[in-house]
Amino acid sequence: MNCPKCFSSMVKVLFEGVEVDRCVDCHGLWFDVSEREDLVKRRASEAIDNGDAQLGSEFNRVNFIFCPRCGSQMMPMVARGRPRIEFEQCTICAGSFFDASEFRFLKQHPSIRLPGVYIKMPGWIHHRASSLSRAAT
Ligand SMILES: [Zn+2]
Ligand SMILES: [Zn+2]
Repeated sequence: MNCPKCFSSMVKVLFEGVEVDRCVDCHGLWFDVSEREDLVKRRASEAIDNGDAQLGSEFNRVNFIFCPRCGSQMMPMVARGRPRIEFEQCTICAGSFFDASEFRFLKQHPSIRLPGVYIKMPGWIHHRASSLSRAAT
């Protein structure tokens, strides 16, 4: 499987029997459905997120990506009221992609771990539409 952001290869990383995929270059993390919520509950699981926060924030700006599992367009998501966490989630297979350091941040902030707090990034569709029209002119 290749990274949906930088297209480098992703390697499997095991934490207590839960397998996630991590990009060898940008160190982004791919979680299949339920793996993220499973891992976020486990002690010290932030060890899987060994990437550089600066690199992660650069790749965070790339949010028009396609699912490495099923090829569907992924939707940028934020935690409601807490815009620091922006990740991409597949609307078909429900896998999610976290840039380097975002999973660590999620672990450090228990208030954004509750299920159901994630919403589609406000203004994203509008932003995409305006960049398309700019490209057309
Ligand atoms: Zn990558
Ligand atoms: Zn998918």
